[in-house]
Amino acid sequence: MNERTDRITIKDWLIDDSLLEKKPIMRCEIGECKGGCCSDGVWVDMGQAQAILEHAEMIAPYMPPERRNKETWFAEHYNDDKSFPSGEYIGTTTVVDETHPGGTTCVFLRPEDRYCAIQAASLADGMPGWELKPHYCCMFPLVDEYDESGIAKRLMLDSENSLFEHGGGCYKDATTLQPVFQVYAEETSMVLGVDGYRDLCRRTGVTPRL
Ligand code: SF4
Repeated sequence: MNERTDRITIKDWLIDDSLLEKKPIMRCEIGECKGGCCSDGVWVDMGQAQAILEHAEMIAPYMPPERRNKETWFAEHYNDDKSFPSGEYIGTTTVVDETHPGGTTCVFLRPEDRYCAIQAASLADGMPGWELKPHYCCMFPLVDEYDESGIAKRLMLDSENSLFEHGGGCYKDATTLQPVFQVYAEETSMVLGVDGYRDLCRRTGVTPRL
């Protein structure tokens, strides 16, 4: 018998009902969604932003010429959220792009193919695609929720995000139902580890696809 789905905790993460719910959806495709989730940029831990800047010479050639000045890549520095490992975070900047459903995009979203320049440059340089890519971009559309002391509390679907209004929901309609965490098995595994993802499958009676 499967466990009660309102109590599943894996590696201290409470798995939210929004991930356990079965929906008739499948993963989006970049050619159709055009990177809708990249309309507004992303908050990045300062340590990760620094790593991106240290690889600026590698990343810049994968961006349009007018965006290659690394001084223009980040803005708005804060230190009021303990869920970021360094305690400090900063946003990627956005640029106007009338050809994108959102009308703006993250400075790193390539207009020609809607790939993330950070990821494209990393792969071309022989690095894992998620090595430098901002943590919350790798997770999306999953998000985490922390308590006030910065302790991880809940893993959930970011279904309340305004991005969903312009194609940033990261899904297409499908004819078969499957748990949301299974649609986003790669992102779930990034947070829980593949073993944690498989544990979640076992506890919900789902056949792992990773
Ligand atoms: S850093 Fe890359 S993946 Fe993240 S919002 Fe910008 S373009 Fe999208």
